[in-house]
Amino acid sequence: MEFEAVIGLEIHVELNSATKLFCDCPNRPGDEPNRNTCPTCLWFPGAAPRLGRAPLEKAALLSLGLGGELQPRSAFDQKVYYYPDLPKGYQLSQARLPLSRGGGIEITDEAGERKTLRIHHIHMEEDVARLVHQVEGRTPVSLVDFNRAGAPLVEIVTEPDFRSPFEAMEFLKALRTRVRYVGASDCSMDNGTMRVDANISIRPRGSGELGTKVEVKNMNSVRHVGDAIAYEIDRQRALVEAGEAVVLHTRLWDPDRKATLPMRGKFEGPCVPDPSVPVIDLSPEWIGRMRERLPEMPAARTARMAAAYGLSDEEARFLCAEVEVADYFEAVAREGVAPRLAMHWIATQLLPALKERKLDPGRSPVGPVRLAALLGMLAREEVNAGAAREVLLEMFDSDEAPEAIVGARGLTQQSDAGQLEALADQVLSQHPEAVQDIRRGQGKAIGFLIGQVMQASGGRANPRVIRELLHRKLSIGDEPG
Ligand code: ADP
Ligand code: MG
Ligand code: ZN
Repeated sequence: MEFEAVIGLEIHVELNSATKLFCDCPNRPGDEPNRNTCPTCLWFPGAAPRLGRAPLEKAALLSLGLGGELQPRSAFDQKVYYYPDLPKGYQLSQARLPLSRGGGIEITDEAGERKTLRIHHIHMEEDVARLVHQVEGRTPVSLVDFNRAGAPLVEIVTEPDFRSPFEAMEFLKALRTRVRYVGASDCSMDNGTMRVDANISIRPRGSGELGTKVEVKNMNSVRHVGDAIAYEIDRQRALVEAGEAVVLHTRLWDPDRKATLPMRGKFEGPCVPDPSVPVIDLSPEWIGRMRERLPEMPAARTARMAAAYGLSDEEARFLCAEVEVADYFEAVAREGVAPRLAMHWIATQLLPALKERKLDPGRSPVGPVRLAALLGMLAREEVNAGAAREVLLEMFDSDEAPEAIVGARGLTQQSDAGQLEALADQVLSQHPEAVQDIRRGQGKAIGFLIGQVMQASGGRANPRVIRELLHRKLSIGDEPG
């Protein structure tokens, strides 16, 4: 029998509002433990939670950015469970009346088809405390850090529209891009600001019914989500083929063993309406104001930038995948740099250099204005590409303008044909074999000779002038490119 997989995702995104969900404590979970707390987020009995405006606005923008419909009325419920990370015994979450319903993201599937993966709803909830397990002397102890308690989360719950690990991974990447566009979270799986649960079932291909699902919880990398789903599909298929049933339960992905493992269930109690937080009534005017605050989203920006800068669709999509990269590119282009030159240098030089230094494009030590100055020198043939690459790397460690670095290091491009001619003559006399090859029609040797002249110039020569000189001296016609 042929099976197909059915997958739905539940994605937790930790919002980056300055304050927590129900109090004014700083929303900085990484600070020294238990600094950012108050009676409300320590969950003292009698404390009165008040929904903060900042997290609500971020959650609303995020919902709109994913195409959701903000609901005129939403409300919090108490999800009862017992665990030391939640000493008050229940978590405030929107189980019945979520902030937003609907929405979705269009992706390109494996077959190259556009496909919309629908979002069922988006709700807000409070995060729980962080448990730190350690050994003191020979005694294992568990410590509780409340900095994260009450931190604002949104949960994005999709329809079971996914049919493969690939679709899930594409969705998550597109989701992250959009959440970063609206500035609601950096959605970094490294620091846990995006965590994913995947619900997976299989069914005979063509069947309209849903099979029994298994939930794989709390994955913190897109790759892990893909691997876990693939593993789980195989595991379920093997079960069914052996005549056994898939049983509803929760599993964890173990990246070291590359397998999902059954997880001990924690006690989950009922979910009841919360009487302490007022219901949230959103007026059409308020929703309209949020809509106006929505920035240009990735699809629109990709189309606009492709047209405005004469970029290919693929190039524009590459730049727009990160809002900071798109901003950086446009800032360089505003300085008058040819768009394709800017695109090329950002993609092949700047981003790899930033990645190597583990820096975000938004915090590049080489800002767009300084990169534009360097690319201007390149365009005016004041430096060659090789020297410009060196200067760029040096700019990462200094605040100097590129002109100053070029001057100090004597990297000004040599374009003077008279000076270069002497170097060319010298190289030709040193490499008679290469000259022979060219005369016998082996054009490849010209690249070697250009390289030799370049080296003899200390990397400063203008490659265009060398090429012209050598072509003239070896009396080969001007070769295109
Ligand atoms: P639960 O009540 O167990 O939380 P929900 O109906 O709320 O289940 O769905 C949770 C997530 O699981 C959603 O993303 C949904 O799309 C997905 N889902 C529901 N049923 C299935 C299924 N049979 N196979 C795969 N995913 C499913
Ligand atoms: Mg659920
Ligand atoms: Zn607090």
